[in-house]
Amino acid sequence: MEIAKTIEEIGQKVADWKKSGFKIGFVPTMGYLHEGHLSLVRESKKRTDRTVVSIFVNPTQFGPNEDYQIYPRDLERDQKLLLEEGVDLIFYPPVEVMYPEGYKTYVEVKELQDQLCGRSRPGHFRGVCTVVLKLFNIVQPDEAYFGWKDAQQVIIIQKMVEDLNLSVKVIPRPIIRDPDGLALSSRNTYLRPEERKAALALNRSLDLAAELIRKGELNAEIIRRRMLELIEQEPLARVDYVEIVDLKNLEKVEKLDRDVLIALAVYVGRTRLIDNLRFISGEVEK
Ligand code: AMP
Repeated sequence: MEIAKTIEEIGQKVADWKKSGFKIGFVPTMGYLHEGHLSLVRESKKRTDRTVVSIFVNPTQFGPNEDYQIYPRDLERDQKLLLEEGVDLIFYPPVEVMYPEGYKTYVEVKELQDQLCGRSRPGHFRGVCTVVLKLFNIVQPDEAYFGWKDAQQVIIIQKMVEDLNLSVKVIPRPIIRDPDGLALSSRNTYLRPEERKAALALNRSLDLAAELIRKGELNAEIIRRRMLELIEQEPLARVDYVEIVDLKNLEKVEKLDRDVLIALAVYVGRTRLIDNLRFISGEVEK
């Protein structure tokens, strides 16, 4: 396993692989890896000949008062995990390689970027799309793997790929959870023990939604209210949003009469956590 830090290094490697006719899988990450990330790596290993993982804490997707500076980083540990998975190449660029002085170009996916997390994190998805498009251009993967954990990100990247006629195939993968249901996230390391317990309210509210749906409840507002009531019983939790939206355009729905996303963002202490379930073709995916 090699670590490439420059665009030239990775370009050379990828060019060789392309010449050999290898199919290339790509997993973009911000590092501090957990089983969620590794599930994407394993899927890539299964489906392609060569797997590239990028580790880049992307400054342009963090707001001015967000956690860019303190975001957890541990390259040595990440390297070890990726070596064990049989990853072929890590792309680990310094910020100046991705955003040299005088950098000016950004990608926006209008409207979709302003919904859900976009409301409390203005500019976040512009930063995500910009870095992901750059990484796609650098790595030139055949397939790229993203977790449903970040559902709005999946939908926005799919739209960007469609609108900009990119040839990469985007493959969304299930959310990996701890045994008690908490969705894995690098940000879970911020949680103190009592906050870690309080954070289970997110998963519990989704379980409640799933149960209501199973019992035949199709009224979005009723489901949303019940979820809010449940989360508000947890004193350490403060809801940012709980929304039920159309899975394609992310607009609010009144009835669950199509494919929908039930998404939420909740502050537990100072840590903002997200989670979701999808209701697709009459089946709950969580
Ligand atoms: P991040 O390092 O947080 O930018 O995440 C990199 C990729 O891993 C993204 O596609 C995330 O959606 C995905 N991911 C993060 N957490 C999970 C999880 N618990 N289950 C599945 N995928 C995840």
